Formats: sequence, structure tokens, C-alpha cells
Amino acid sequence: MMVLQELQRDPASREAAGEALALMASMYPICRSITGDGVRRTLDLVEQVVPLERTEVPTGTPAFDWEIPPEWNVRDAYIADASGRRVVDFRAHNLHLVSYSAPVDRIVSLDELQPHLHSLPDRPDWIPYRTSYYRENWGFCLRHTDREALGPGPYRVVVDSTLAPGHLTLAEIVVRGSTDGEALVYTHDCHPSLANDNLTGIAVAAALARALRQEQPRLTWRFVFGPGTIGSLAWLSRNEHRLPRLRAGLTIGLLGDAGPLRYKCSRRGDTVTDRIAAHVIGGEPFSGMLTPFEPYGYDERQFCSPGFDLPVGRITRSPNGTYPEYHTSADDLALIRPEKLAESIRAVARTISLLDANRRVLNLSGKGEPRLGKRGLYGSVGGAGPGEFEHALLWVLSLADGGHDLLAMSQRSGMSFELLDRAATALEEAKLVRTLDEPSRGTDAVSRA
Ligand code: ZN
Repeated sequence: MMVLQELQRDPASREAAGEALALMASMYPICRSITGDGVRRTLDLVEQVVPLERTEVPTGTPAFDWEIPPEWNVRDAYIADASGRRVVDFRAHNLHLVSYSAPVDRIVSLDELQPHLHSLPDRPDWIPYRTSYYRENWGFCLRHTDREALGPGPYRVVVDSTLAPGHLTLAEIVVRGSTDGEALVYTHDCHPSLANDNLTGIAVAAALARALRQEQPRLTWRFVFGPGTIGSLAWLSRNEHRLPRLRAGLTIGLLGDAGPLRYKCSRRGDTVTDRIAAHVIGGEPFSGMLTPFEPYGYDERQFCSPGFDLPVGRITRSPNGTYPEYHTSADDLALIRPEKLAESIRAVARTISLLDANRRVLNLSGKGEPRLGKRGLYGSVGGAGPGEFEHALLWVLSLADGGHDLLAMSQRSGMSFELLDRAATALEEAKLVRTLDEPSRGTDAVSRA
């Protein structure tokens, strides 16, 4: 996988991070939510990087215990004082409006306004991010210093929004593989002007999908862009027939802050996704953190719910709620560390690459060692010990008993996964081993040049 391999290294990962930051800067001003035109405009920008297949799911469509809510769009919103001056203005920052605020136009006193205001006394210069998706309400978020300066009123509050039958927008990039197995990368796209959560996930997913499209992966990879919770539920409800073929999956997001890389395990905790991600994220050079599953977080909650029980874990840096800027106006583009974003790209690229390449192979000539020299796989001059590649060939042949995948071979032998992958591919081409996991969709053996 040449292009994805390049993204595992500098300088390609730094260049990709620079492009991701430019995409994030263009997406940042847009008011996104779980439905509405802000999501569609965001996807238009993603589509400048990589083509998308979009699905519009109508309001009222059931998704297990949930249903698609009315579509929300907002044109303007403000609180104005008696002189008409806007003291809180959605046009100045879209976090000022509680997401999914219902339309309102009314004159109120400060006392009547207070229950609809949200601020952070501990962080008086930051605007909090609040939502009211499933309970019809309206509200404004503001800097606590500005809230303290409000006089008794009266104020005019205006929310010029619509909450009406419409659609929830899902988008995906499908990169077809050479076998019947599938894999998933999900990122949420429902947050307004917030950078680490969730623009980093969108931009990194787009960069990786673009790279993978240059290759012929073994698995069919779906990169899905959808809102948190209701989006993954809507996707699952429309894709249940695919799930038996799902071999691996990741949710990604919060990839640009200064915190260490982190892999959160799937609910089962011992799936191939968990083993590969622990090897990549927990190993050199990333030395990231591994955390067990818990039923709080992002869309891995839905994928790992017991009725699905999918091999889906999560790659993030600082998790939700553990950094002070989380869900506030301080999660802006200045919070993003380009070198951390580049490291995240390298880590997710390598995880995807290893998940795609990992397989069990069976030795077809297991009674004694097959003669590698006559197949051009072994140096013809005897006496010296085997070179590194020859050594890898011997390890693959020795462990190709059907019980070891390439990762298990790497852990047993201490040789790199990538070297064993090359050795296994050479042995497959020489018809000395065959892949067990997947029936090939194509003609004969699975070929990975
Ligand atoms: Zn969030």
C-alpha cells in the first residue's frame, strides 16, 4: 500500500497535516449540527479532497429505539438590548446559539432570559457548546464576563430557525478491496465551530481515504461521515446486512491536541482491531495509551452495543471531556498542534495498513522445509546465516499452521509486521502458502504487490 505507507512517514504525514489544517480552516466557520445545510456544505468541502456517496435519511425514519429528528437550519439569532444593539450575536460566533434551538421572537426581562443562558464561570472568556436535540427549547451561550455585564432588560430574543421535516445526511467513501471482508472508519461531523472535536476527525478521514483510493486494499474500507449517535445508528440500521463481513473498524476524532495518542478498546477487547491497534498505538514509535472499553464516548458505543458487538475501537488523543477547551470556543484552530495532527495521521495510517494486511496463512508444503533456493527465494551460496528476509520466510513457513496471523507471527518472532507481510506475499506467489481468512473475490490467490 504505497500511498498509505507514505503517510506513515515524514515528510508525507506533515504535508498531509498541512492540507488537513487548510480543509479544517475552510470548514471551521460553518454552523453544523446533526442535520441541516451546514453538514451538506461541510461535505461539499470534503468532496474537494475525495468524492463522496451521500444518503439523505428522511425525518421520522426509525433507527432501532431512535428516529431521525426534524431537520434544523438557522439563518440568524441574537439577543438585542433596548437600543437594538446585539449583545449576543450568532453571526459573531455560531456557538452562541444552543444547537437545535426552536424559533422564537419575544421581548423578555433578564430574569426571564437567565434560564436560557449558558456560560462558564470558571472560564469566563470562553463560550460553551450546548445542544438541545431531542427536547424542543431555545438558548444562548455566552462568555461569563458578558453575562455578568447584562442589565435588567428588556431584551429582544430572536432565533430565526426552522425545525421541520427534512433529512439527516450521511456520506461515505468506499474503497473496494480484493476480498469479501470489510472494514469501517467512522467520524462524527455534527459539531459547529469546534476544531479538535470534530474537524480533525473529518480531515484525517478524508486524507486517509484519498490515500487508500490509490491502492487496492485487501478489505473493502468504508469511511463514513455522520452525526454523533443518531448518525451511527442510522448507518447501522441501513447496513445490517454488511455487518457479518465487518472484520475491523475504528472511530476517529480529537486527533490534533497536545495529549498522547490513545486507543480505546472495543467492548470485546480482544478483537483483531484491538490487537493491531495495541501493537501500533502502544508500540514504538508512538508509545500511546491503551484504555479499556467503557460505554461512554463516541460512536463506538453504538458499534459495540451487544446486539452488534462489532470489532470497533477508537483512536483519539485527549478523550472527550478531559481537556479544558473541550466543547468550548477555545477548541479552535489555535488549539491544533500540526506535529500532533501529523503523528495522528501516521498512527491511523499504520493501523489501517496493518488491519488490512493482517491474515492467517497455511503452509501447503509443511512436511519439512520446502526448497526456497530453487524458487529464487533464498541465497544460493551456503555457509552464511540467513539474511533478514530469508529469516522472515522461515518464520512464516514455521508459523503458517493456520493458528497464527501475521501479528501473532510478528510477536512470536520479534520481526516486524511489514517484513513478515512481504515474506508471506512472496510465499503466496510461490504457492507455498495460501491465505485462509478470506475467499478471494478475484481469480486465484490474493496478490499484494
Ligand atoms: Zn463532542
